[in-house]
Amino acid sequence: MKVTWLGHAGIEIEDQGKTIFIDPWLTGNPVATKKVDEIKKADAVFVTHDHGDHGYADAVTICKNTGATFVGIFELANKAKEDGVGNVLGGNIGGTATVAGIEFVFTEALHSSSVGAPLGFVIKLPSMTVYHAGDTGLFMGMKLLGELYDVDLAFLPIGSLFTMGPKEAAKALELLSCQKVIPIHYKTFPVLTKSAEEFSEIVGPMIDVIALEPGDSKEF
Ligand code: ZN
Repeated sequence: MKVTWLGHAGIEIEDQGKTIFIDPWLTGNPVATKKVDEIKKADAVFVTHDHGDHGYADAVTICKNTGATFVGIFELANKAKEDGVGNVLGGNIGGTATVAGIEFVFTEALHSSSVGAPLGFVIKLPSMTVYHAGDTGLFMGMKLLGELYDVDLAFLPIGSLFTMGPKEAAKALELLSCQKVIPIHYKTFPVLTKSAEEFSEIVGPMIDVIALEPGDSKEF
């Protein structure tokens, strides 16, 4: 399984012939190394909420260019349909669904949004179960997510101001009982946490903190 950090909250995962994107904000992203029109293959594009830095507009473009299914909260999926996406899968918090043969869960996120509610996703890829928290504050329900879904790899925001910061994200890992994390939603803008150093120090040596550079990939 290959995971690429697209910068900010954007993640691309290739696993056993399937390609998925989560929050692919590329257009206007100061740290993105990829252009939206370079993306030729995608099976599903997950969008956690409609804030501009989470890539709704680019997700719609990717889905139109590749035939991928747009996945989001019910109201946002309906909007994607109205915006011309052929395949959409809308759901709501707590629900499980399957897209392109991949089972996933719509999970809660403590945040705001203009269309529908904000989400996170637990995605059961063939090689690993991953959790993308979306934009969120820390919440106790993460303990239940860890118990129910056995998360192998988490994508957690550490930027603070709009989401958890390093301290809260470290606690989130503990609640999730997860040993591997790729920090996201930091160092994109000057107001956000500038590096993963403090986060790595708080979580300690027992946890694998994979701090990528935007555009970089890691094989699992
Ligand atoms: Zn947001």
